[in-house]
Amino acid sequence: MSESIVIVGAGQAAAQLAISLRQGGHAGIIRAICDEPYLPYQRPPLSKKFLAEYRDPDSLFLRPATFWNDQNVEFELGVPAGAVDPRQHRVTLTDGRELDYGTLVLATGTSARVLPVPGIELPGVFSLRRIDDVVALRPALNDAHRVVIVGGGYIGLEVAAVVRTEGRIVTVLEAEDRVLKRVTGPATSAFFDRYHREHGVDIRLGARLTAIEGDTRASSVWLASGEMLPADLVLVAAGARANDDLAVAAGLPCQDGVLVDELARTGAPDVFAVGDCTRFPSRRYGRRLRLESVQNAIDQAKAAATTILAREARAPGKPQPYDPVPWFWSDQYDIKLQIAGLTDGYETIDTIGDPAAARFSVEYRSGGRLIAVDAVNDARAHMLSRRRIAEETATEAVS
Ligand code: FAD
Repeated sequence: MSESIVIVGAGQAAAQLAISLRQGGHAGIIRAICDEPYLPYQRPPLSKKFLAEYRDPDSLFLRPATFWNDQNVEFELGVPAGAVDPRQHRVTLTDGRELDYGTLVLATGTSARVLPVPGIELPGVFSLRRIDDVVALRPALNDAHRVVIVGGGYIGLEVAAVVRTEGRIVTVLEAEDRVLKRVTGPATSAFFDRYHREHGVDIRLGARLTAIEGDTRASSVWLASGEMLPADLVLVAAGARANDDLAVAAGLPCQDGVLVDELARTGAPDVFAVGDCTRFPSRRYGRRLRLESVQNAIDQAKAAATTILAREARAPGKPQPYDPVPWFWSDQYDIKLQIAGLTDGYETIDTIGDPAAARFSVEYRSGGRLIAVDAVNDARAHMLSRRRIAEETATEAVS
């Protein structure tokens, strides 16, 4: 008899885990608990097509309800898990119910970072992580003329592209000295900075938000420089933090992310964690990584499923350690950016192609080895680079 598997969270990673467990022959109960009232859905369109076209939320679902019924995967939706007890093998929901598990998988994702500035709680201030955020944001955007976006990362810039295309006045406040600094190198940042400015977005670099003001709702923002900007709507897109509170309270080792090993095991027996909420060791990159990407959610969930199935003696042989070449994409206007690898620690940069023609790639090397490639409107370069980076960074992966 297979054991009961409880998954906390029902996002991209949880969905993949459930699918891989069933594909691998797990016949026992699979039950996913989620604080959101929706079946597993894809988040990337929230800041892109879904925001622009605003369709039925069902259009985002990764699989229809019939699929999950056929797979006998159970969902408890709209109810957060309030506590986990690894010793008792028990999860307590905030409505008081208790669920016993044989194996627990934390797949709780991330939350939008809340900036500690006065006025952040005013109506008219939004963040963007969930379907319900778009449900609140979209009508407010329709009434807004001047939109201030706090954060020049990929979500902030994607929303800027959508909103600017609608003809609204858009200002992006970025505290760093360039946009997309956390995910890419200077050449790619410069390209997107220029592209947005050419489309009429007012990008302010080194701009730190100090307050949001308004009587009944946000009507202006203040910068550390002393400047005030009028705003009908403020979107805060200033990064995310791992939802590791349950794990912290349960005494599991965490560090802005549940610490897991290369097989997705946490510090507690029978407790695994997958996706955005984890920080895992990468021999390829020589440090622990916390990634926020669909690739990571899917591939780490597959790896975790292999480990769990191997414990059930369903997948003979050694589980495959997870040590990926990360990849990621972002859509802004008519531009598709695809990033493979991680740029941190690069020593040389080569630009191939013509940024002025909006089709080029940027190669990053360290010690002569290719560690990352940004491909702009060049899917072929992206696909090739994933293989090349995997080969050139593999030596450290098998020490
Ligand atoms: P999530 O999909 O976030 O799912 C976690 C779920 O767990 C959530 O529903 C959460 O509410 C729930 N949860 C948390 N705590 C509890 C609790 N205590 N009890 C019950 N449920 C709980 N990635 C890309 O690769 N490309 C992109 O272009 C891209 N664009 C994005 C755009 C936006 C606007 C956002 C928000 C993300 C984007 N991402 C993109 C990132 C990608 O969506 C995430 O990396 C991916 O969803 C992570 O999957 P996950 O299952 O780990 O977490």
